[in-house]
Amino acid sequence: MTSFSYAANPVRVVFGSLDTLGAEAGRLGLGRVLLIGSPRHGDRAAAALGSRLAARFEDAAMHTPVDVTERALKVAAEHDVDGVVAIGGGSATGLAKAIALHTGLPQLIVPTTYAGSELTSVLGQTADGRKTTQRAAKVRPEAVLYDVELTLTLPVSVSAASGLNALAHAVEATYAPDATPMTDLFAAEAKRVIMSALPRVAANPSDVDARTDLLRGAWLAGTCLDAATMGLHHQLCHHLGGKFGLPHAETHAVLLPYVMAHQGLDDAAEVFDLAASLPIPHSLAELGLTEADIEGEPDLLRQALHGTRPATRPSLKALTKQVVDSFAGAPDRVRVLLSELVETLHGYAIRTDLTQAEWEYAIGFLTRAGHITTETRQEFILLSDTLGLSSVVDVLTNSRTPDTTPSAVLGPFYVDGPPETPQGTDLAAGLPGTPLPVDIRVVDTDDEPVAAAVVDVWQSNEDGFYDVQLPEVDGPVLRARFRTDADGRLRFRTIVPSAYPIPADGPVGQMLDVVGRHPYRAPHVHFMIAKPGYRTLITQLFVAGGEYLDSDTVFGVKDGLIVDFTGGLDFTFRISGSSA
Ligand code: NAD
Repeated sequence: MTSFSYAANPVRVVFGSLDTLGAEAGRLGLGRVLLIGSPRHGDRAAAALGSRLAARFEDAAMHTPVDVTERALKVAAEHDVDGVVAIGGGSATGLAKAIALHTGLPQLIVPTTYAGSELTSVLGQTADGRKTTQRAAKVRPEAVLYDVELTLTLPVSVSAASGLNALAHAVEATYAPDATPMTDLFAAEAKRVIMSALPRVAANPSDVDARTDLLRGAWLAGTCLDAATMGLHHQLCHHLGGKFGLPHAETHAVLLPYVMAHQGLDDAAEVFDLAASLPIPHSLAELGLTEADIEGEPDLLRQALHGTRPATRPSLKALTKQVVDSFAGAPDRVRVLLSELVETLHGYAIRTDLTQAEWEYAIGFLTRAGHITTETRQEFILLSDTLGLSSVVDVLTNSRTPDTTPSAVLGPFYVDGPPETPQGTDLAAGLPGTPLPVDIRVVDTDDEPVAAAVVDVWQSNEDGFYDVQLPEVDGPVLRARFRTDADGRLRFRTIVPSAYPIPADGPVGQMLDVVGRHPYRAPHVHFMIAKPGYRTLITQLFVAGGEYLDSDTVFGVKDGLIVDFTGGLDFTFRISGSSA
């Protein structure tokens, strides 16, 4: 069973007549209303509000500039209003929401476009040319009154762009990671009515039935916009809109078919044909963008720049499903791991618009990682470490045994089965460095000593090298296997480890180079503690005050593992039974 959660939002939605505005305001208990909206509809709204009207504000602007909001807030305060009514498009609605954000005043919205903002808890605002978006429950309007008559004056070009904006909400909701049976229903119905209504509205803007369908579709789509997470299309519109100050609805209208085609969605071609038939801009160039503007942006924007028919892809969903289905006969855990891997990899390629050349580069990279790997040089562990994957797995492991000493990554330099060494031995065996007496205890989660636990220890020398990295070194150096005594205690001698770079002469080193990262690890000593009946603890102790604690290249440092090494290392490891 797939699990989901859906919260029906407490907004009152009325399809009816503007004449009931006063009554709707009364339902909300509003007696002193600030009315936002241009004279076009504002005058009728003012008349409908009658004595409830306290003040008017006519200057709402696209993308809710904060200086406009400040002016409106002043008017609200001067007239001591107890609620806000906005009539107009997304711009008027945005201002009402911004006022609510600051004052908590209830809102009644009368939308005259298809933007859908009236149904969401999302507010986008601009300050100093920068747009920021936030979600807040008090931003969501309490009531919405749709009157189709008001939309009859909306020019065809604005209607078409705004309608495609609404369609985008429905399309993205369909593929949202948090889609639910409810948003699926709303989105499917919204898509159906918007696509059938748009050509009819374009052909006859006074067609009340077509306008009604479009407005209903916009309502359902707006509900989806609030209830499901929007994806690539909204990200791109937001990104380009913010960067180049593009008009909101038109940007959605231009990009939608391209993003849909890019994602291999079935109805991409149909949406392209629909958009092509409408009197709206069909390319980013028509919105004023040039080749230079989209340099380095995803490939699909190049097609959108020129308005050429988007290259349609085979339905990638079907392909992914086919591969996932091929694992049906695998043992449970294998099936889960492989299916998730394939879905993630396919999604990665799609989201990044991976090119053939990039794919070949990745294969070459992995091949080089394989070739450079030997018994004593493990490039794949380095890759996993430097991408933070090892630490993710480690944190997951840790979370299963919260009462024990935190674990840390194994790292690439562990050699299985170091020689068993008597307690008290000096691991440094005459190597230069700051002498470090070590006195550790191994206890269980009841703080009882764990005797005869096998403790493998390995560390770098003063220059930051492990024995396996030094061809002239024969046999294990700064590496040993001990056993705890009857008190769970272990004493030996060594030297203070130093920071060191991970081997950087392979593909992983090149990667660090390209992204401008250093290859250093914070100074540490590795421990692996094992005893039958207990969970094996793999961890590291870091030198407090050591270099690179904040930027360890394998993301391996944990607060609980940073220890004062001054004058010696004194530490108690806590391990748990294997059934824990
Ligand atoms: P808009 O409100 O700016 O209206 C577009 C134009 O149409 C304006 O010139 C307006 O005066 C005119 N107009 C509106 N209704 C009319 C009518 N019935 N007859 C004649 N002319 C009419 O634009 P919009 O596309 O409705 O909204 C865009 C704004 O809404 C953007 O700022 C966008 O960020 C925001 N928005 C926010 C959300 C959200 O959930 N927060 C969702 C969608 C849009």
